[in-house]
Amino acid sequence: MARKMTMTEKILARHAGKADATPGENIWVDVDVLMTHDVCGPGTIGIFHQQYGKDAKVWDPSRVVIIPDHYIFTANEICHRNVQILRDFVREQGIQYYYDPEFVKNEPGMPNPYRDPTKTNYKGVCHKALPEEGHLRPGEILLGTDSHTCTAGAFGQFATGVGNTDAAFTLGTGKTWLKVPPTMKFTFHGQIPPYLTAKDLILAVIGQISVSGATYKSMYFTGEGIGSLTLEDRMTLTNMAIEAGGKNGICDVDQKTLDYVKARSNRPEWEVVTEDEGAEYCYEHEWDLGTLEPLVAKPHSPDNKDLARNCTDVKLDRAYIGSCTGGKITDMIMAASLLNGHNVKIPTFVVPGSTEVHADMQRLNIRGELKAGDEKSIQQTLEDAGCQVGPSGCAACLGGPADTFGRLNEPLNCISTTNRNFPGRMGHKEAGVYLASPLTVAASALTGHVTDPREYVSEPIATGTAGLV
Ligand code: SF4
Repeated sequence: MARKMTMTEKILARHAGKADATPGENIWVDVDVLMTHDVCGPGTIGIFHQQYGKDAKVWDPSRVVIIPDHYIFTANEICHRNVQILRDFVREQGIQYYYDPEFVKNEPGMPNPYRDPTKTNYKGVCHKALPEEGHLRPGEILLGTDSHTCTAGAFGQFATGVGNTDAAFTLGTGKTWLKVPPTMKFTFHGQIPPYLTAKDLILAVIGQISVSGATYKSMYFTGEGIGSLTLEDRMTLTNMAIEAGGKNGICDVDQKTLDYVKARSNRPEWEVVTEDEGAEYCYEHEWDLGTLEPLVAKPHSPDNKDLARNCTDVKLDRAYIGSCTGGKITDMIMAASLLNGHNVKIPTFVVPGSTEVHADMQRLNIRGELKAGDEKSIQQTLEDAGCQVGPSGCAACLGGPADTFGRLNEPLNCISTTNRNFPGRMGHKEAGVYLASPLTVAASALTGHVTDPREYVSEPIATGTAGLV
C-alpha cells in the first residue's frame, strides 16, 4: 500500500518525477516559477553570469518573474542602480514578466511616485503582486529570493525563499536541490470571530512553538477555521511561517482558491494536491477560534507573544499599516471600518501592499463594495481619520534608506501590521515594534497605547468582493 503523504511531500515527489518523497530525503525538483526583486535580483544576476558565462540564457524566460518593490521611493542612487540592473537583464534575456517602476529614471533625487495606481506597470510588494498577476497555482513549486516567498503556500503550492546562489542555479537550470521537510499540522476549529484576523492566529502559533520551532519544517494550516478565512487572510498565516523557521507554509485548496486562480492564472493547467488522511506529522496542535484573543508580539521577536489587553500600559508613538503581511485590501477594510468616524491619536502611516490594493482603496467603500458617487472610499475614510497614505511597496517594513515613507528614524514605539520586530527592522535600532493585526493596530492608533480591538469591534466586518477574483 502506498505511503500516506502530506501536500508538501506530494508536490515535491511529483516535481522530482517520483512516486514518493520522504522527509529527510534529498531530491532534485523542477521549479515552476522563480521570482526575484530589486534587492536580491542584482546579486542573483551577477552570480548567474559569473557561473554560466556572460552570454548565458535563463532556462525559461516565461517562468522568471521580476518584481521591484523594496527600495523604490527613495533618492538613494544605489537603489536606482539596482532597478537599472534588473531592466538590463530583462532586455538581455527577454524576461516575460517584469513590473517596472517607470517613474524611477536613474536621475538624482526622489522619483515622483505613480499618479494613478491603475496606470503604472509597477505593482508593489512581490508577494501580493504574484497572485494578482497570475503567477500562483495549486500544486506548483515557487522559489523566490525573499524569505516571505512562503506566502504563496496559501494557494496550496510549495513556496519557499532561497539565497542568491541557489536562485542563480535555478535561473540556469530550472531545478533545485531540496531536503524534503517533515510536516507540522496546525488545526483551527470554529469560525473567525469579528475581532480576530489571521495575524492573531499566526502570532498564537509562533508564540507557542517559538521562532525556531518549525526550523526546516513544513507548516500545514487546516480546519474549518482556516476555511472561514478569506484567501488574503490565509496569506497572512503562510507569510509568517518563516518567522517560526518554517521551510514552507501551506493551506488546503477550496472553492475560494479555485475561483481566484482560475480567474487570474496566466497558465491554463495545474493540479490540485490534497493531504492524505493518515499522513504523518512530526507535531500537531489544535486551537478553538472561540477561545483565542487578540494578540501582540512585543519587541524584539515575533514569538514574544502577549494578549493585547495585557499591554494597555505600553505607550505608542506611531502606528503602521502595510506590508505583504498586513497591507492587503481586506487589511485596509478592517482598519478603515474600525477607524471610520474617529481620529487617530498618534501618527499613523498606511502603505498599500500593491498598486491593485491602492486602486481598490480608491474605488471601494469600507464594506468592500464599489462606492457610490458621494460615498467615501477606503482611502478617504483612512485619511479623514488622520492617517497618511503612501505609495505601494515595502516602505518601512524593513527600514530602508532614511528617506523611506514611515521609517522609524528615532527610537519610537510603533505598533505595526508587519511580520518582523527584530532590533532595527523598521529603522532605528532602539525602536520598539509591536506586531499586531490591522484591527489591533487601528484600535491602538485611536488611543495611543496598545488596545484590544474588542473595545471597538463587536459585529463582523464585511469585506464584500474585495481581494477576491
Ligand atoms: S513588505 Fe516587508 S516582509 Fe514583505 S517583502 Fe517587503 S520587506 Fe519583505
